Amino acid sequence: MSEEYVDSYVILLPISLIVLGAFLISLFKKGSKVVKKNPRSTMAVNGGGFWAEEKIQKLRCSVKNYDWGRIGLDSEVYRLTRANSGAKIDPNKPYAEFWMGTHESGPSRVIKKPKILANGNCFNSNWTICDLGGPNLKSWIERNPHVLGDKVRKKWGSDLPFLFKVLSIAKPLSIQAHPCKELAKKLHIQDPNVYKDANHKPEMALAITEFEALCGFVGLEDLQMVLRNVPEISQLVGSALVDKVSNITAEDSEQDVKAALKQLFTQIMSASEHAVADVLSQLTSRLRLKDNLTSKEKLVLRLEEQYPNDVGVLAAFLMNFVKLNPGEALCIGANDLHAYVSGDCIECMATSDNVVRAGLTPKKRDVETLCDMLTYKQGHPDIVRGFNVEGTGGCIKRYRPSFEEFEVDHCHLFKGKMTAFPAMAGPSVFLVTEGMGTVRMGFSMEKISAGDVLFAPANTKLSIHSETRLELYRAGVNTKYL
Ligand SMILES: [Zn+2]
Repeated sequence: MSEEYVDSYVILLPISLIVLGAFLISLFKKGSKVVKKNPRSTMAVNGGGFWAEEKIQKLRCSVKNYDWGRIGLDSEVYRLTRANSGAKIDPNKPYAEFWMGTHESGPSRVIKKPKILANGNCFNSNWTICDLGGPNLKSWIERNPHVLGDKVRKKWGSDLPFLFKVLSIAKPLSIQAHPCKELAKKLHIQDPNVYKDANHKPEMALAITEFEALCGFVGLEDLQMVLRNVPEISQLVGSALVDKVSNITAEDSEQDVKAALKQLFTQIMSASEHAVADVLSQLTSRLRLKDNLTSKEKLVLRLEEQYPNDVGVLAAFLMNFVKLNPGEALCIGANDLHAYVSGDCIECMATSDNVVRAGLTPKKRDVETLCDMLTYKQGHPDIVRGFNVEGTGGCIKRYRPSFEEFEVDHCHLFKGKMTAFPAMAGPSVFLVTEGMGTVRMGFSMEKISAGDVLFAPANTKLSIHSETRLELYRAGVNTKYL
């Protein structure tokens, strides 16, 4: 190197260092001003690890072992619970529901990264043994309410407005309906031990396997056909009521049709145990001798085996038998009659656990309330198939019900692909059901795999990268109303 070049370096190097130093100082000052002005919003901009609560939080979730659940490895809920808890769980028990949310009957916990001590013991940041998990998600949100976003806080206060679940169904759930807000409040005051919430519970079931459900009442023509073809129902309710329903025509008002349907349904559901057992015995004997059973008749025989002598078996004749393929969803509004029959599904609902039951259940029945509250909506329910979210290359499909509290996205990525969830004004809960990958938010990154459940604060954009084929679901507040 010549002396001339060495001289140039001696002059230029200090100048470059001064310019670089000044640039770094100006950047630092600029950053400090933003922090002073609005400390919370900084995270949404830089995405870094400034505020721990602004990061994605991994959750440990609750499981319900109701007896209608699928057993062990047959159950999606078992698979997810085992992966989510990281613990050995009994494969011989039924695994019915996996709950992700803040409801007190099955709260999720925020997993704190454990500290490993020199003696090998593992503690979380509260110095409790780490397998106890971190704080309850509800109390964590109460301490960090800004994670909900302003609009959600204003409308629903400091709690998640939705509850996210996975269901694995081996035998039917009860014939049920969920009260509207007004009735939920009334029932909660009357009997808080049974109706634990004063909130309504609209819900949506998105099939992840072939899924069967009974939902709403059949239309008038089908109802009249049932009365002609199922003499056991006529025997139970009497010929006068059968004649009344059979003589209704399309000219009669909707109100009259609903009133007659209500009378018929109430009379069936209120029949004595003895009378129900008697007609069910005649019905099953007749059907077992019959050739070419309809799909409803086959279902009725199945139901009777699973719930012998239960009046819900007869109610099935009056309801629509719906079969969903994976990727199809069903929305259940307030006071709509339904019973999920079999299959695995993703379910989302307003945060509530209010159920009024009247059949296919060993649990408490409230026939009078159920018969009184129903909408008596007739006809096949709409099947929701979802729509592609713009700008995601067809990787994300959104299922948006008419309810304000929630919507569900399904994200499917082939190996080595990437997509992004745009920033949303409300919080999100993500569930990974298949595969492995990473989720990135600004500069922070989390490895994800099947069974992981993540809470993402409002106003954060996330990108998802797949290492294998990856399937995940997001529940969030309905963006149409935000
Ligand atoms: Zn339900």
